[in-house]
Amino acid sequence: MSWALIPLTEEQREIQRVAREFALEQIAPHSDQWDRDAYFERSVIDQMGELGFLGMMIPEALGGLGLDTCTYVVALEEIAAVDASVAVAMSVHNSLPTQMILRWGTDEQKERYLRPMAAGKWLGAFALSEPDAGSDAAALSAQAVRDGDCWVINGTKAWVTGGNVADVILVMARTDRPEDRRGPRGISTFIVTPDMPGFTVGKKEDKMGLRASPTVQLVFDNLRVPAANLLGAEGSGFVYAMQSLDNGRLGIAAQSLGIARAALEVSVTYAAERRQFGKPIKEFQAIQFKLADMATRITASRALLYSAAAAKDRGEPTTQFCSMSKLMASETAMWVTTQAIQVLGGYGYVRDYPVERLFRVAKGTEIYEGTAEIQRIVIARELYAAT
Ligand SMILES: Cc1cc2nc3c(=O)[nH]c(=O)nc-3n(C[C@H](O)[C@H](O)[C@H](O)COP(=O)(O)OP(=O)(O)OC[C@H]3O[C@@H](n4cnc5c(N)ncnc54)[C@H](O)[C@@H]3O)c2cc1C
Repeated sequence: MSWALIPLTEEQREIQRVAREFALEQIAPHSDQWDRDAYFERSVIDQMGELGFLGMMIPEALGGLGLDTCTYVVALEEIAAVDASVAVAMSVHNSLPTQMILRWGTDEQKERYLRPMAAGKWLGAFALSEPDAGSDAAALSAQAVRDGDCWVINGTKAWVTGGNVADVILVMARTDRPEDRRGPRGISTFIVTPDMPGFTVGKKEDKMGLRASPTVQLVFDNLRVPAANLLGAEGSGFVYAMQSLDNGRLGIAAQSLGIARAALEVSVTYAAERRQFGKPIKEFQAIQFKLADMATRITASRALLYSAAAAKDRGEPTTQFCSMSKLMASETAMWVTTQAIQVLGGYGYVRDYPVERLFRVAKGTEIYEGTAEIQRIVIARELYAAT
């Protein structure tokens, strides 16, 4: 089923087809088991790398596909419709670490780190949050101190998607001194690899959903990072993180759409097959209204996502649209998956059908890369900024 109001180009339709077939053939048969086992399958990432899905918005000169944001979100929705855990790895990698190195990295950093990331040989992660700094990320306390030709970092990062399997992690840490705190302007970004001395993977979270996407703490005990691995300007790391999260939020919107669409597809099929009171339940108006509302919210979310992605590709300011898109799509995913369970009744509440897993993963989209409350704060702030 596809209800794209905004027509796709021929190239986008082809990439959509490749992503859909790949997801159905290589991921779908395993999704349920990976979720039960909280198992991350690296070979899927490798295969996505070979298809170019890990370098979608990286220029061809650096080994990527050189595609725009619109095409990226189309592909991501297809992966998410089958497995949101795999989709979140694709989303984080494409939206955050790779875009940050592309935008602010030196030529040497691009050659050394971005090229293998664009090819999907190296997986990227993004480490901003800390145990005591979530929505208020600027309150982070990991401390970097310059020591000769290295920065020495101490602290704990929390909730790092793929932090235990990533090859390159973009880490935000303070470079201002404790006696001279500069708020967000005292934060810098570092390119970290797990082989650096002092790097340890800490607690792995036991999550309600997205269980096949590992989420871990990273513990830095005198982590030694070469000075050449500072990304961009010292003290600009928080700005880089916030600007990159605009990309990230479009990725999470696409992931949410995939989740919602999958839930609707199961519901439509089930409602046609399930009979009660002598007829298929799709003939009850109460069920029809649910399906109609689900389809309407999904279509509206997709139209907003495509419009925001197109505005971004035109180089227009999109912070507010990215937040609107993430907010609407994530709340749509939560609402649609809740309705889907209702349409399936008791069968929606057990693992025999995928809507139970879709419901669990949908909740995460309202939390990461900025909670729904934080998106509303960003949207409202921009209203006043515009006046
Ligand atoms: C599955 C998963 C993957 C993640 N992956 C990553 C990752 O790869 N990298 C990374 O850096 N982080 C990651 N995160 C962290 C995520 O970004 C944070 O969980 C999120 O920003 C919220 O922070 P918190 O959990 O500390 O909640 P808190 O900030 O403590 O918020 C708790 C509640 O208070 C509300 N709240 C907070 N401040 C305000 C306010 N000013 N006004 C109104 N309400 C407010 C929040 O909306 C929320 O409802 C991930 C999280 C999850 C669950």
